Amino acid sequence: MAKFEECDYEVFWNTAMQNIRSKVSEAEWNMYFGEVQYHSNEGNTMKISVPSLFCQAEIRKRYLNELQDIMLDLSGQKIDVELVVERKDDAKKNFYRKSPVNTTAQIEKGDQSRKATTDSYPEIERRRFPRGDIQNSVSSQDDAAWRETSRLNEDYRFDSYVIGENNSFAANAAIAISRNPGTSYNPCLVYGGVGLGKTHLIQAIGNAAHERDKTLKIVYATAETFTDEFIQAIKNQKNHNFKNKYRSIDILLIDDIHFLQGKDATQEELFHTFNALYDAKKQLIFTCDRPVSELKQLKDRLRNRFERGLNVDLQPPNYETRFAILKRKLEQNGSNLSDGILELICKNITTNVRDLEAALLRLIAYSELVSKDITLEIAQNQLRDVFSVQRQGAVSIEHIQRAVADYFNVSPSDLKGKKRSKGIILPRQISMYIARNITEYSTTEIGLEFGGRDHSTVMHSCQRIESRIKTDSTLEPAIRNLIRTIQEME
Ligand code: ADP
Ligand code: MG
Repeated sequence: MAKFEECDYEVFWNTAMQNIRSKVSEAEWNMYFGEVQYHSNEGNTMKISVPSLFCQAEIRKRYLNELQDIMLDLSGQKIDVELVVERKDDAKKNFYRKSPVNTTAQIEKGDQSRKATTDSYPEIERRRFPRGDIQNSVSSQDDAAWRETSRLNEDYRFDSYVIGENNSFAANAAIAISRNPGTSYNPCLVYGGVGLGKTHLIQAIGNAAHERDKTLKIVYATAETFTDEFIQAIKNQKNHNFKNKYRSIDILLIDDIHFLQGKDATQEELFHTFNALYDAKKQLIFTCDRPVSELKQLKDRLRNRFERGLNVDLQPPNYETRFAILKRKLEQNGSNLSDGILELICKNITTNVRDLEAALLRLIAYSELVSKDITLEIAQNQLRDVFSVQRQGAVSIEHIQRAVADYFNVSPSDLKGKKRSKGIILPRQISMYIARNITEYSTTEIGLEFGGRDHSTVMHSCQRIESRIKTDSTLEPAIRNLIRTIQEME
């Protein structure tokens, strides 16, 4: 009986999905439901696995009521839908185990269900052709040639990209683009500080799109390469080769466009390249180390092009995401380090993923060199200098209070004091909100720095700011500017 009910519920879910799919755009569908799967049911609760907290929150907000209504219609009883975040790897395990339609055997046969399956899990497609194994030498030569022309690094893939709260919007948009390049989110610009995963993410779009469709012309270039190539083309009077190359691409990825500041001729060329590709509905993807509005020496018409479409940011990962990234890197490396050591690294390296990775590699290299297991003490010693640099760069709550007080023309002691006038409450709440978002301090620690306030006051302040951001469009840019100022403070 239980089994029968389980099957029934999955049928309800599939029908509800068809219903929703018929009402939303392809892009919206891919963004929110592309990787959502039926999981199981217990009593009247149906569990659905979603790939990220972002998906969970958005589906809850946008579709949950409708889904419950459809379920009620279909089943004649109230079915609760519970959205469970399941990381991609876990989902994949379930997928192998329980999906009644898309089995790996069917994928091998290449039947109809295959497309849907590999859409959701491009890595399965790759597993079928492990490099240097089933692939014959001709196709691996093709692959090498493709790598050379596309300049994509095969290691930058979605399945090695850990999704957390800091990057889930950008990552979901990237996945949607790789499935439907040139349709929506065009152009897409990903911005964020050094080492936060911009290059990895946009190259993953290129790699995933290539896996889906080998005929697509995909080119990755840093803004610097693009500039050099352009200058060489002019010198060698091969302008039109350059134009031909860059204007006949299906997906163009240009990394680090802040490099183009002050390079007027290259900006002009990119402007025309942009227009040609955009008009032909080809996908354009860029990265930048800051929001485009903050770039100096950039021609307005190019700025305006970058700002079209989707601009998404990457934030530093929180503790859990940093830990998950380290775990993933260890797995990839086939190495072993205790969780205690990973915790030590995560606690001390908070600002960017590149540094996190570098610390890990240093320990792995050391353990290989001395052929012995790394203890917590060895790790501590080996990484002492790295940690101390991080601490110097870390933002203190005092810094935040100073910058916010300056900005609102109040005194830092007012922020810590008891005054409850309107002119003080907002800056105080903003300071707490920033402290919560860019430091590792807990709400209790933050409260202490604000005149010994309780952690619940800090949480309440953060919620107030979050809801104000939704209604006051000037607040978020102001906070972003403040954060930048704070991070640049000595
Ligand atoms: P950026 O281009 O923003 O400076 P990169 O894309 O070069 O950063 O990322 C730096 C390193 O951190 C790369 O090795 C990348 O694989 C890794 N990395 C960044 N973000 C993630 C993530 N979310 N999951 C796994 N690895 C990541
Ligand atoms: Mg980069």
